[in-house]
Amino acid sequence: MIVLFTVDVEQDCPPFLDSTRGMEEGLPRVLDILEAAGIKATFFVTGEMAGRYPEVVKGIERLGHEVGCHGDHHERFDRLPYALARMRLEEATSTLESLLGHSLCSFRAPNLKFPSPYIPLLEEEGYLVDSSTASYKWPFAGGPTWHGELLRVPASITSSALRLFYPVMIRVLPRFKGPLVFFVHPWELVDMSGERIRFDCRLGTGQRAAENLVRFIDYYRDRGAEFMTMKDFYSVSKKGRSSLPEAI
Ligand SMILES: [Zn+2]
Repeated sequence: MIVLFTVDVEQDCPPFLDSTRGMEEGLPRVLDILEAAGIKATFFVTGEMAGRYPEVVKGIERLGHEVGCHGDHHERFDRLPYALARMRLEEATSTLESLLGHSLCSFRAPNLKFPSPYIPLLEEEGYLVDSSTASYKWPFAGGPTWHGELLRVPASITSSALRLFYPVMIRVLPRFKGPLVFFVHPWELVDMSGERIRFDCRLGTGQRAAENLVRFIDYYRDRGAEFMTMKDFYSVSKKGRSSLPEAI
């Protein structure tokens, strides 16, 4: 089984807060957990966080992880007209690419909302992977699918499900077909219980979220799962392209 561990790097619990405790306290914890486990992950970073924390973002890549794009200011693309969506995507991509000095491979839209008619925008910017769909919410994407040269890789599980229902989720997850795409936010590893935010955003944050991540990784490692980045998964999928479905 393949596990794609992904991290959405943004301000704390958007759109409810605009603090960045996750960047300062949570992100180092995520990196430490991955380092201790010897796992490489994909970090989808907003243009805004790359602009405010350039050294942190460069540091992620220096540790061998992949940096992808998570929009510019965590705006939902399905609420932006086409021309504005293009502008935001260009801005975010340009911020990240000039910071890192190379082109990006992978993209994930904020809130996993990216209208299909906007896919040409991703192709224009040279993205090869889009992880803006989800298996657990409408329209319930199945496994990875090809759209021309773009590979769409749906997220399999929301991180809050792991925080809130760990004992159940860890039994259900192995039933997923294809790669298991897990994502977490740095702010979840910070205690948010005192914040005036939605119930499911604050429960189980901090230490418990960190412990769940370690248990999740150990669970899959013990069962021989292979952890890889989106970019690596793209390479593997391209070689075996005939085995993955093409979108109509
Ligand atoms: Zn996000």
